[in-house]
Amino acid sequence: MSTLPLAGRSALVTGGGRGIGFAIARRLADSGARVAICGRDRQRLAAAADQLRRPADQRQRPAGAEVIAHPCDVRRPEDAQSLAGALTAAWGSIHILVNNAGISGRNPISESGDEHWRDILATNLDGLYYVTKAIVPHMQSPGGRIINLSSVLGRFGVAGYTAYCASKHGIIGFTRALALELAGRGITVNALCPGWVATDMAWQGMRESAAGMGITFEEFRRQAIAGVPIGRILEPAEVAELVLYLASDAASGITGQAINLCGGQTMD
Ligand code: NDP
Repeated sequence: MSTLPLAGRSALVTGGGRGIGFAIARRLADSGARVAICGRDRQRLAAAADQLRRPADQRQRPAGAEVIAHPCDVRRPEDAQSLAGALTAAWGSIHILVNNAGISGRNPISESGDEHWRDILATNLDGLYYVTKAIVPHMQSPGGRIINLSSVLGRFGVAGYTAYCASKHGIIGFTRALALELAGRGITVNALCPGWVATDMAWQGMRESAAGMGITFEEFRRQAIAGVPIGRILEPAEVAELVLYLASDAASGITGQAINLCGGQTMD
């Protein structure tokens, strides 16, 4: 079992209780890492941690992987600090930070009130900043890895989604600047830009967009898939595979990049 690529490493995946974050946590744990997951829903986190302790395949690793489930609302800097405190008390240093927690949703400029704008920016951008700021002082150096979940909506705009697009474009700028700031400490910082990935967020986005266009969910889904050259929606496990690579020793030469994982939906 000592041949597992991430044996001896510790990782934090924000929003690791479900969706893409859970798939990432699963892949890192099955690769030998100690994994912490955080989110707002305590029960979901506890159930996810139980699942993560059992390997996807018994032949890969023994059961009983070290998993910490720590409730945390990334919008609250004090939660981020308490999370960092708990992880350093347990593990000393953190090798891998995956800033995955995020929310989406339409916020047409004509909408009354600013709640959607504020909530999306507070979660996707401020939250990512608070967690990173709390964890960086405790990151393994050299060898640390920060991987931020942006989106193809960090590459192009979609009508009605100013807050989500602004937050995901912002994550790419944050990634580039932080990569330069931490290069001297041997910590890499990269962003991933997935297209449609099969999770609750994608289904919710499709329902919302279909309603906005006055068409059915199925019709919108067909149009969305038609916009993806490979002709399908990605699976969370495909994102997790790229995270594993970026977290590995082999990726030490990659930093400050925003990498598309979108079936050819954009090539910029
Ligand atoms: P889901 O909605 O399935 O999961 C979102 C996760 O984020 C949950 O674990 C949720 O946990 C957590 N989260 C949300 N708000 C907070 C908060 N304030 N504090 C802590 N955790 C929070 O989304 P996906 O898995 O689809 O998305 C994961 C990431 O990937 C996001 O950043 C998203 O923008 C990005 N992405 C997704 C795409 C897709 O098509 N699915 C495409 C491109 C990018 P809880 O509710 O318990 O707090």
